[in-house]
Amino acid sequence: MSEVTEQLRRNGSFTDFTCHTEGSVLPLKPTVQDYAWGIRGMDSRVARYALASGAIKEVDPDAPYAELWFGTHEKGPSMLQDGRTLEQAVGGQLPFLFKIISAGKALSIQAHPDKDNARRLNSENPQAYGDANHKPEMAIALTPFEAMCGFRRIEEIAIFIKKHKEFAACISLEAKLAIFMAETEEEKKDALQKMFRSFMTCDPEVSRAQLTLLLQRLQNEQNSIHPHPHDEPAWERKSARAILRLSQQFPDDAGAMSPFFLNYLLIAPGESFFMAANEPHAYVAGEIIECMACSDNVVRAGLTPKFKDVNNLINMLTYTQGGPSIDAGAPLEREPRILRYTPPVPEFEVLILRCGPGEKVYFDNEDEPTILVILQGTGMIDNDMVCHPGRSYFLPSDAAPILFSVPSCKRGSLKVSIARRNLHLSLPTTFSKGKKLRELPEYDYEM
Ligand SMILES: [Zn+2]
Repeated sequence: MSEVTEQLRRNGSFTDFTCHTEGSVLPLKPTVQDYAWGIRGMDSRVARYALASGAIKEVDPDAPYAELWFGTHEKGPSMLQDGRTLEQAVGGQLPFLFKIISAGKALSIQAHPDKDNARRLNSENPQAYGDANHKPEMAIALTPFEAMCGFRRIEEIAIFIKKHKEFAACISLEAKLAIFMAETEEEKKDALQKMFRSFMTCDPEVSRAQLTLLLQRLQNEQNSIHPHPHDEPAWERKSARAILRLSQQFPDDAGAMSPFFLNYLLIAPGESFFMAANEPHAYVAGEIIECMACSDNVVRAGLTPKFKDVNNLINMLTYTQGGPSIDAGAPLEREPRILRYTPPVPEFEVLILRCGPGEKVYFDNEDEPTILVILQGTGMIDNDMVCHPGRSYFLPSDAAPILFSVPSCKRGSLKVSIARRNLHLSLPTTFSKGKKLRELPEYDYEM
């Protein structure tokens, strides 16, 4: 057993919680998903939280710990201490699924269907699409987090087509012409779809051969003493580096070229972005909180050994261009120490509560079934329940407001993530695209 494991054990395991009754806060046991891209062993926050919440008894240093699920989804239902499922305690399904994600390498290029598409996919192929719900999702970074999200502006894609002949060789002449000629919004959407369809359906022998040539050239440029002309912007260099890294993780997968057409982002802890249905994205590395409508429907197209469904993906995407808006949350009016991250969908919003040493912060769940996960620090709930990072709780709809407190002898703040149904639907803090794009001059937005 590692030293950290031992320390977590000494600090108290799942079973030593004070027994709380209905109507108050209840310790919750999440479910671990061990997908191959997860961070391994105790380096993974998912592993540490799983241990602290009693979801696992020990951590295998060689195993990946990818996702921790808090919710009622049948693929990973959460349990209460008394043996009931969360679904039994809620009296039905929660409308959202809350996750902690530790990504050591890239997840597949994917999009999630809207409700109509989800119903159709679920009836046509229930094996691959296990439920009929849509899955808008929101990510909040816990560490610096790299991701690809949404299509680049068409002007950027045109620059890459001109500069990288290997990428150009994977796209039909017709699609390239459409990219260079498009003027109106409709033409741009149409050109993006043509480009994406052409790239995704390119003869795999051609795209593999071109990828090999591209990697050799990019590698040579990286290794040479004067690798880049001085006028090459950072976002172009960073895309090249990203392609080299992705191809190491997924050898021979042309999806490694996707930084040429998807926005490549690095967001800081506390920053967040929202993905509406039908937007292409891929998480690359880092740890996040993720909240989504209760669904596990993923249409994949690359960077994965799993089932790919290129045709459905091509047909369902919206082909909106430009990066997502990056949101840093908004303080609640009655309690500025609670930030809310509110997406434009009714199923969920996420709150981050911060309680400093010597402080007390009330949280009222406003009659909504609510999930709480301790992210950082040590404190008390209602003066009798010690909380540590990774411990998680369920607040039933009839729970009284709870009080978080941190003794003044502690150095750091207690930080708690909270998920519930969206109570601020008319006041979203985040949008899927373009509507609230802000410049981030002080921040290295493009990776
Ligand atoms: Zn996703």
